[in-house]
Amino acid sequence: MDSVILTARTLREKYAHRPAAAFIGPLLAANNIRLDIWPMQTEKFAGCLWKNGDEWTILLNARQAQPRKLFTLAHELGHYFLHRHLKTHFSCNIFPTGPVSRWEREANRFAAELLMPAGQVMRWADTSPARAARHFGVSEEALQYRLRSLSAVRSGGGKYGPPAEND
Ligand SMILES: [Zn+2]
Repeated sequence: MDSVILTARTLREKYAHRPAAAFIGPLLAANNIRLDIWPMQTEKFAGCLWKNGDEWTILLNARQAQPRKLFTLAHELGHYFLHRHLKTHFSCNIFPTGPVSRWEREANRFAAELLMPAGQVMRWADTSPARAARHFGVSEEALQYRLRSLSAVRSGGGKYGPPAEND
């Protein structure tokens, strides 16, 4: 298991089977991370994470749908837990159309594992996607993408396999 998944899984295990809506608040508080949500002029900007003095802040664009806001928040937490020793400011468009940097991909993988842990998601595979999406607080699209990625990994890769990790 690589360090991105391990970090997400270790954090998630602290909060057992609680859904994201119940553990994100305590997770922010435990790490002293401030959260601000503000309606931006553009929908392209998803969120950012930055350090001011000793304090870290996550800013989310309020103009995103709720499930996307939660994914952005988990993505910024990914930068905090994986990359905060490398940089003090991360500005993110989570669903860009162009190429994506390695750090952005790592933060997305962290967010997927934090919000939809592999071990829990597979148990929901045979139930209604809408019910499962509500349980995890994500969009149905995100949940189905996650299920396809996980089954591809189990069956040895394929169309929906994870991106190459050779950079
Ligand atoms: Zn990012």
